[in-house]
Amino acid sequence: MTFKELKLHEDVLQGLDAMGFEKPTPIQEQSIPIIIDNKDIIAVAQTGTGKTAAFLLPVLHKISEQQIEEGQINTLVISPTRELAVQIDQQLEGLGYFTIATSMPVYGGGDGDGFSREKRALEDGAHIIVGTPGKLISHLNLGYAKIDNLKHLILDEADRMLDMGFYDDIMKIINQLPKERQTIMFSATMPPKIRKLAKDILTDPEEISIAISKPAEKVVQAAFLAYDGQKIELVKYLLRDNDVPSLIIFASTKLKVKQLTRELQKQGLNAKPISSDLEQSERESILNEFKSKKLQILVATDVISRGIDIDNIDMVINYDVPNDPEDYIHRIGRTARASSEGEAVTFINEDDQYKFSRIEDLIEREIRKVKMPAEIGDGPEYNPKKRGGGRRNYGRRKGGGNRKR
Ligand code: ADP
Ligand code: MG
Repeated sequence: MTFKELKLHEDVLQGLDAMGFEKPTPIQEQSIPIIIDNKDIIAVAQTGTGKTAAFLLPVLHKISEQQIEEGQINTLVISPTRELAVQIDQQLEGLGYFTIATSMPVYGGGDGDGFSREKRALEDGAHIIVGTPGKLISHLNLGYAKIDNLKHLILDEADRMLDMGFYDDIMKIINQLPKERQTIMFSATMPPKIRKLAKDILTDPEEISIAISKPAEKVVQAAFLAYDGQKIELVKYLLRDNDVPSLIIFASTKLKVKQLTRELQKQGLNAKPISSDLEQSERESILNEFKSKKLQILVATDVISRGIDIDNIDMVINYDVPNDPEDYIHRIGRTARASSEGEAVTFINEDDQYKFSRIEDLIEREIRKVKMPAEIGDGPEYNPKKRGGGRRNYGRRKGGGNRKR
């Protein structure tokens, strides 16, 4: 299947050509016709499968085809984080370059100038607005946004939005929008709460789901059984023996990210942290350094594991095992995007073994356990199902009176 066969407008095809997209990904192939057909849709596909273009292309197509004039906001895209909003906007600029479509990102942070620029775009009715929930609400509450003629509402990374507690905000926004509109939801996973949201806000939707909960096939996955005290040495070992220009190390808490970055820096490694603790401008400049390969190692929490689009990452290290098995898939989805190959390495200490076995259950695959290098010494034995392993910390309080029911 080609983009041309999807009958996209000539101006959109030119943008695709300039972006170097040769053929549609499966999620694009399936959702583009439905969106062009003005039907509501819930589309689920794992991270890195091209969901952004799957919703941008048909919208750009319709704006081009109908020669819609500026003056009324045509499409509102809601995204959970600023980083994602920026990325969607960047892809929009690329794909829409040869079209008449205008757009504006609307996300928190920034100064008064930023706010008035956003306000102007909303007043003038730019075709496509991409924003985060909180910032969109502040603008909508002030009443100048030209939304009476809104045709498309798009929720991107819907599962992430709910994880971040945006349900009420989404509803507040929807309440201000015209009822006659097409609503489009994209998500990496389909937990019950996403099903419920879809039921609440979509009308008679088409449903598409592609290979949920399976990591991208080109990711080489491996795990080391390591005590916490061996992990830094293991990072250094992996960097010495492999050519790794770009590495993301994931840790589960902001505090760990901070400590680990400091430790890596002390060892002379080129590492910086990214977490929700940082100012927006700091986060952007670190991301840019990383993307331009000036920064080798990005240390991150799961906040950025979903949806952040950074190309050509050579390796992802899970410094600890993520609590939510779905997060494992998101984390390793950072590597081997679209067409490259990538490696994902997970460090498993004695307490994380049970959690890790749940990931293996989810992806229905056993992940290779690699022997610790001799110079670092043996790690713990792998015994995930043994009681007292990973479960030790859960719900076995003395007296048992405190258990959640
Ligand atoms: P998702 O939202 O599903 O996680 P993205 O939309 O961020 O994925 O896309 C992942 C990467 O794949 C991006 O770098 C994007 O530019 C690229 N990409 C998307 N569609 C195509 C395509 N049809 N051909 C080549 N690359 C693509
Ligand atoms: Mg996405």
